[in-house]
Amino acid sequence: MSEVVEHLAELTGFRDRDVMDVTLVSALRDLLEPVSVAIYRCVGEPGQQRWLTRARLAADDAVATADSLWTEPGRLPLLEAFPQRHLCLDSRTILQSELDDGHHETLFPLQTDREVIGVLEVRSLELLTPSEQRTVGSILRIYHNFQGLLDYSERDTLTGLLNRKTFDESFLKAVSELPLSPSSVQAEDGRRHEPAHPHWWLGVIDIDHFKQVNDRFGHLIGDEVLLLLSRLMRNSFRFNDLLYRFGGEEFVVLMRCADEPDAAHAFERLRHNTEAYSFPQIGHITVSVGFTEVRGGDTPASAFERADKAVYHAKSHGRNQVHSHAELVRVGEMKEQEQHSDIELF
Ligand code: GH3
Ligand code: MG
Ligand code: MG
Repeated sequence: MSEVVEHLAELTGFRDRDVMDVTLVSALRDLLEPVSVAIYRCVGEPGQQRWLTRARLAADDAVATADSLWTEPGRLPLLEAFPQRHLCLDSRTILQSELDDGHHETLFPLQTDREVIGVLEVRSLELLTPSEQRTVGSILRIYHNFQGLLDYSERDTLTGLLNRKTFDESFLKAVSELPLSPSSVQAEDGRRHEPAHPHWWLGVIDIDHFKQVNDRFGHLIGDEVLLLLSRLMRNSFRFNDLLYRFGGEEFVVLMRCADEPDAAHAFERLRHNTEAYSFPQIGHITVSVGFTEVRGGDTPASAFERADKAVYHAKSHGRNQVHSHAELVRVGEMKEQEQHSDIELF
């Protein structure tokens, strides 16, 4: 019993979700001594959902393994590739089965208040006893409640997107992975090599004439538009892009992709999806988007400022447009900002 309590203390001692998932699988390995234990999350757009391994530990593994968050979604297995897991998701019940190698597999649905988000898989030599199943169930409830508390402090209550408070931390984590100057990717033989990490991009999205929506239809309808736009954002970007509501009708995206055309393409997809969507009662709205590459040495404020200037350019040139700050500088529409801007926006 004290071992269980010890593990629970550990589980709730972190505010980092990656660490929490690893802690959960190692707690269950200690308690159940299974062949392996793993957490699989389902990610991606409806109809194209796939399994992302969040943490997996086999009996004699020293450390847990996981898929990188930056895995190309297309490389992850589709839900249908694992019918038992899929069934566990759909039925929201614990499923037990015997595998070809004689091991037993027990699948537990992982759910939030709103939806089932994945499964916990325990493979064991013997069937889990009802008492072991109850212990796992109780630990999962604590895990779930704690995730709910994290969501409450990190997410915007209206849209469920990340809130501004968490932006600086993720931004600084992103920048710390960047080479400080482009020359550091120059290889000794003189050829340019692709940097180990693709680049980070920051986009600012602002709804066009949103004040008119509120004035004509009222704040409640305005709020519904914000909620629906956040859904369009989720469907337009990848599952591992970081989506924020910065307050009001301004949204921010922090994402990794290879180059400027790729980033432009992603933002253009949101612009297009928004323009094409028919919002109940009000009809059509548009967004203006500005984006910039995040550079080594950037502060959250300096990168935001560049993207925001590109939004301003879109606003003053007819709205419903996507602009890259670097492109505006290249064509002479805008001056490069001073490096290491210390303008405090946050
Ligand atoms: P522009 O195209 O230049 O961006 O015009 P705009 O009307 O969207 O711009 P502005 O920034 O002047 O107005 C933003 C409006 O957003 C002001 C306010 O009425 C509305 N707003 C801000 N926060 C909220 C919110 O949480 N809910 C609702 N319903 N409206 C909000
Ligand atoms: Mg605004
Ligand atoms: Mg606006």
